[in-house]
Amino acid sequence: MSSWFLPDYIFAKFDDITVDFLASRGIKALLIDIDNTLAPYEVAEPDERIAEWFKMLRERGISATLVSNNGRERVELFNRTLGLPYYYKSGKPFAKNLKKAMAAMGSDKTNTAMLGDQLLTDAAAGKHIGLTTIIVPPIRDKSNLFFRSKRALEVPTIKAYVKKHGGESALICDFWLNKRFNEKRG
Ligand SMILES: [Mg+2]
Repeated sequence: MSSWFLPDYIFAKFDDITVDFLASRGIKALLIDIDNTLAPYEVAEPDERIAEWFKMLRERGISATLVSNNGRERVELFNRTLGLPYYYKSGKPFAKNLKKAMAAMGSDKTNTAMLGDQLLTDAAAGKHIGLTTIIVPPIRDKSNLFFRSKRALEVPTIKAYVKKHGGESALICDFWLNKRFNEKRG
């Protein structure tokens, strides 16, 4: 069951994803979540690091579109200086806006990746339509009961990923899981 949202790749943070990595996997287009993938919920606008990363993608010919489940106001303010194509209230794990974004970029499932922090929405939406899926651990986890329950559902998938990939992924996922377990105990 957990393979429904088992991501293809896990990175420690969004800007560890290099153009060379994307090129080596044949990725020419990225669909990107905002909240907890690029910035925490409460950070309204992108910092220099985010701007630099998008600049690098643009210069190397990688298309990018923001695909967020958050509302219009949040997404438009965050995108004000980035000027990317964007979709808000996307309803991930449903893939409607992922498909629209791909059509607009002229990409298809063979050369597009979905990048996000949520296995149950971002990875699931991407996998559902056969995209490459890349996950980063959420920058700042909310700690209310709903989020903790959702996170608990993700643990078997994270463990499955480590079992499959080993190596460096084990370190990233160990940190992710232990942070979660500490949260639970606390
Ligand atoms: Mg997110």
